Amino acid sequence: MPSTKKDYYEILGVPRNASQEEIKKAFRRLARKYHPDINKSPEAQEKFKEINEAYQVLSDPEKRKLYDRYGHSAFEGVGAQEQVFTQDFPSLEELLNDIFGPEGFGFDFGSIFERATRGRRRGRQRPLRGEDIYRTVEISLEDAYRGTTVEVEVEREVECPSCRGMGYDESKGVRTCPTCGGTGQVVQRQFFMTISHTCPTCQGEGVVYEPCKECGGKGTVRKREKIKVRIPPGVDTGSKLVVEGKGHAGRFGGPPGNLYIQVRVKPHRIFQREGDDLYVDVNLTYPEAVLGTEIEVPTISGDKVKVKIPPGTQHGDLIRVSSKGMPRLRGSGRGDLYVRANIVVPKIGMIDKVFKDGKRLESILRELEDVLPKPERIKER
Ligand SMILES: [Zn+2]
Ligand SMILES: [Zn+2]
Repeated sequence: MPSTKKDYYEILGVPRNASQEEIKKAFRRLARKYHPDINKSPEAQEKFKEINEAYQVLSDPEKRKLYDRYGHSAFEGVGAQEQVFTQDFPSLEELLNDIFGPEGFGFDFGSIFERATRGRRRGRQRPLRGEDIYRTVEISLEDAYRGTTVEVEVEREVECPSCRGMGYDESKGVRTCPTCGGTGQVVQRQFFMTISHTCPTCQGEGVVYEPCKECGGKGTVRKREKIKVRIPPGVDTGSKLVVEGKGHAGRFGGPPGNLYIQVRVKPHRIFQREGDDLYVDVNLTYPEAVLGTEIEVPTISGDKVKVKIPPGTQHGDLIRVSSKGMPRLRGSGRGDLYVRANIVVPKIGMIDKVFKDGKRLESILRELEDVLPKPERIKER
């Protein structure tokens, strides 16, 4: 946002070294052209907002100094500058009279500004909670099984070490506000009335600050940080973890945001996961499936378990090995491991290569074919 903002001098069409007089004249000329009371086009409203904002800053020597030094970032976080200018404007008449009226040029435009925004702002340093940071981490299924610690690199806004988050230069300290003399109020005479307003320079605080050089008054600086995140056993793709307080620092005493970690578990070479259960495919020969056998199956923990394949096992049958799945993220215990039978048939052409004596295998199979009871040819569903 700040980079897209137009230069205030450009908006008013004045040189950078323009006098206060010139700035006032430029504003007056532009206000007459673009004030919503006169110019009803929608662009005029936007344009006037810009003009108003530029004038508000450049007509105030303190603010102008800040702007010259830090650009638009001087006002970021200091107040809701942009919101302020979207509110109602004083009428053109009111505005021009106030600045260029009988009291002359000595009038502080700030009070008009303040009037337009009165009641919408309570001091400039409203505590703001820091923003959250989101990261995705990818871990292996083994790590998801055991739990792990990952290091996440983030660039966070942290409390400025130079001003300890205060936003002002502590060596220069605070000084009494030159506009209101420390009372926090400015008095404006209008006809027979005396109206007092919150001081626009210090927002009623009675003091002004020299912004901290390190952070430009923001109170925070960017810092690259490696944050260790503990990943508990049982996480799955889509699991979200929160590291409280490890988002961006808050401002003006606001709490920091959080770091949110989204977990992604990489696909495994042999295990397929469904919730807390795991599936592993085992290749069985036809005789093994028919006669039954005992095989060794790896588990996610790294151990092996012996699994009985019962006689008559069909292709695709599942044999359950209880509690050898993933740990349950919530609650205790573990899911199960399912062994899925995959009956393999030697490929034609491979028989001679795979088996030493292809001819013998063929004759055995032919014999088997003779004695084997024929199944129903068409499978019922
Ligand atoms: Zn600082
Ligand atoms: Zn003041």
